[in-house]
Amino acid sequence: MSGARPHVVVLGSSFAGLTTARFIRARCGDAVDLTVIDRNPYLIFVPNIPMEVFADHDPLVSMHLDTVRFHDRDGNDFINAAVTGIDPDAKRVAFTPTDRAGSAPESISYEYLVVALGNQLAYDRIEGFGEFGDTVSSGYYGNKLRRKLFGGSYKGGPIAIGSARFHQGLEHKPDWMPVAQAACEGPPLELALSMAHWLGEHSMGDAHKITLFTPGNTIAEDAGEEVVKEFLDLAKGMGFGYMPGIEDVSRLTADGIEFANGKSMEAELKIVLPDWVPHPFLRDLPITDEYGFVITGTDMRNRDHPEVFAVGDAAALTVPKLGSLGHQQAEIVARQIAVDIGSLDQADLGEPYRPEVICFGEMGGHKGFYIHSDTWYGGETSVLKMGYTPWAMKMAFKEMYFHTGGKPVSWGMPATEFTMDRLHVP
Ligand SMILES: Cc1cc2nc3c(=O)[nH]c(=O)nc-3n(C[C@H](O)[C@H](O)[C@H](O)COP(=O)(O)OP(=O)(O)OC[C@H]3O[C@@H](n4cnc5c(N)ncnc54)[C@H](O)[C@@H]3O)c2cc1C
Repeated sequence: MSGARPHVVVLGSSFAGLTTARFIRARCGDAVDLTVIDRNPYLIFVPNIPMEVFADHDPLVSMHLDTVRFHDRDGNDFINAAVTGIDPDAKRVAFTPTDRAGSAPESISYEYLVVALGNQLAYDRIEGFGEFGDTVSSGYYGNKLRRKLFGGSYKGGPIAIGSARFHQGLEHKPDWMPVAQAACEGPPLELALSMAHWLGEHSMGDAHKITLFTPGNTIAEDAGEEVVKEFLDLAKGMGFGYMPGIEDVSRLTADGIEFANGKSMEAELKIVLPDWVPHPFLRDLPITDEYGFVITGTDMRNRDHPEVFAVGDAAALTVPKLGSLGHQQAEIVARQIAVDIGSLDQADLGEPYRPEVICFGEMGGHKGFYIHSDTWYGGETSVLKMGYTPWAMKMAFKEMYFHTGGKPVSWGMPATEFTMDRLHVP
């Protein structure tokens, strides 16, 4: 490092971190030194794990993207390490290399810091999950469910699919942002639809075997009332069971699932999306809220430490926890830093963060759904499309992401929204 150029350190190299690092390099060129730290030298493309499970593909084989080569190509230093602490006053990050056990702790200084470390998915807070639970948020869990479905151990009993309660930070929460009861309810919707299709394909029944549960008053409330109503009408017509207001998941047993509101249900498969919880070392920092989510304004900067940014699930403003929100924030952070260091005109700073729920989900049988809505945040956009095209777009986005290394062409996202919102979907 030259020492003369500002040092930007990006923590995390998954959807939020990889994309932010690549946008910063694109906006700032050689005017910054850029270091990226992640415990893993790869990204796992989580949104498409459900598709891989139902297609009997191993997601550890098909969904891993080696990220280091893209950083190398961009001239970024990559440190394969676990971040263990941030000292915002000293502007230093503590880390321990993870490529070899027994490595000694070190620290690194920064002029700009981007926190893109995601959250912990807290299955360890659900009693009985290890023994009786299933999910699709990692290669390991995806394979566990895949082997039950395709290895014959699932016998065709009832299936429960839903979310545990999400604990959103309320400290410094802006008025325009509602409080979510579940962190991310696109996955339960797509899992339920894909599972119904899978049951039919394997002559094991249909949607009548599946019950969707949610801690909220209604499932996927962040998608907006109109979209949810349309979805629920479809789901009821197909025969899905529906249990809103379960408050939280209390316990999984061999025979079923127990909820915090006192209700329970019998289930052979218990597929759960858990609470999204910040990494423990982020709690009690001057830049985080009461749970450890990083507090920022709509410029994605922390107010007390404006050299600290947050992107993706780690940011308090990312609600629900959706990768597409992190993508929008990555563009904002890159422009903010570029203006600060004089690589971009102030006039090109761009718009502040204005969340929109954009979600592509699978429905089985080469069909998918597309949701584009901001009514939950007070906006007026509300689009739900179902058919072959959303499925094809979901596949295409993954291919483009792998091909470009997390830097889909800048018009990719707006063009996708524009096309999908106006398209008559087959
Ligand atoms: C089943 C499922 C389906 C989903 N489908 C969609 C979808 O269709 N569309 C959508 O927009 N979103 C979807 N999401 C949400 C999406 O996956 C997340 O919003 C997204 O992954 C967040 O990206 P991130 O980079 O902020 O965090 P993460 O993806 O969690 O990445 C965090 C990174 O930080 C690294 N890290 C963590 N802790 C440390 C540490 N201490 N030191 C060093 N490195 C560390 C990790 O290795 C990782 O690389 C889905 C989520 C799930 C679970």
